[in-house]
Amino acid sequence: MRSAIIVALGGVALASCVPPETPPPVIAPTPPPTILRDVGPPKRLHFTFEGGLTRGGVVIGSAPSDTARLTLDGRPVEIAADGRFVIAFGRDGAPTARVVATLEDGRAVTETLTITPRTWILENLRSLPKTPLPSAAFETLREPELAAMSATRSMKTTSDGWRQRFQWPVTGRISGWFGSQRIYRGEKGNFHNGVDVAVPTGTPLAAPADGVILLATDRPYTIEGNMVMIAHGMGLVSTFLHLSRIQVKTGDAVRRGQILGATGATGRATGPHMHWGMRWNDERIDPELLAGPMAGR
Ligand SMILES: [Zn+2]
Repeated sequence: MRSAIIVALGGVALASCVPPETPPPVIAPTPPPTILRDVGPPKRLHFTFEGGLTRGGVVIGSAPSDTARLTLDGRPVEIAADGRFVIAFGRDGAPTARVVATLEDGRAVTETLTITPRTWILENLRSLPKTPLPSAAFETLREPELAAMSATRSMKTTSDGWRQRFQWPVTGRISGWFGSQRIYRGEKGNFHNGVDVAVPTGTPLAAPADGVILLATDRPYTIEGNMVMIAHGMGLVSTFLHLSRIQVKTGDAVRRGQILGATGATGRATGPHMHWGMRWNDERIDPELLAGPMAGR
C-alpha cells in the first residue's frame, strides 16, 4: 500500500515539474495484544430442522444456543447436550405445529412449522370386522400382556440410536403401509400403525438403529406374537411383531444391524411378514420415512 502511494506521488511530481516530495514517515500504530481464549462454537440464534415435516414424519432439530426449555405445542421436548432434539407428527393432527425454546435469560424463540398432509390408503368393506369377541380365556391371557407392554412406558433407557440413519430390518415387498385403514360398513377400523414387509418365516431381522431392548417377550402374545421393542433414545421406539424366534433379552444394548431374531407369523397374522411399528412418545410414526427407499427395490 505504501509503495503504491509513492508511485502515485512520483507521477504527480513529474507532471507538474516540481521536486518530488518525500512522503512523511508512516508510524504504524501498535496493534492491540491478541488474547487467545476458547470462545466455543458460534451461537445459534434460530432453530434448524431436518427430516420429514409431514404426517407420520420425524424431524431432528437443533435448538437455539442457551435453550433452557423446549416445547412442541405446549408439551415438553427432551434436548441433548449439543442442543439437538427429536420431534414427530402423528398420522392425524393440526396442519401447523409450534416449537418454542425458552432461553436461559427468559427470552423465547418461536417457530411455526407447516406439516404437509398425506393421503392414506382407505379400504371400504361391506363386512364387519373379523376380530373375534373377546372370550374369558383371551382376557386372562391378555391382561399380563398389556401390563408388560405398558410397563415399558416408564422404563428409563439411554441410547444415541436416534442420531443414526435408520436401516431396513429386512428387505422385501412392502405389503402393508403406515396409516392405511379399513372402513367396515362406514365404521372406521384402527389405522395400520406400522409398515409390513412380506418375507418368509425365518428371515433374519436386523435392528434398524442402535438401542436398548425394552421388551423381548418370553412367549408369543395373543395378538402381537413374539415381539421385540427397542428404545432408540429421545422417545423413539421400534416394535417388531409376529417373530418366529427372538435372540435378544430385555435390557440388552443392541447395535444397528444386529440380528434380533427371525420373522414369522406368530400372534394374529394372516401370513409371514415383518411388522415394524414406530412411535415417538405417544405419537405413531411411519418407519418408512426414517428408513427411506429400500436398497435393491
Ligand atoms: Zn402390520
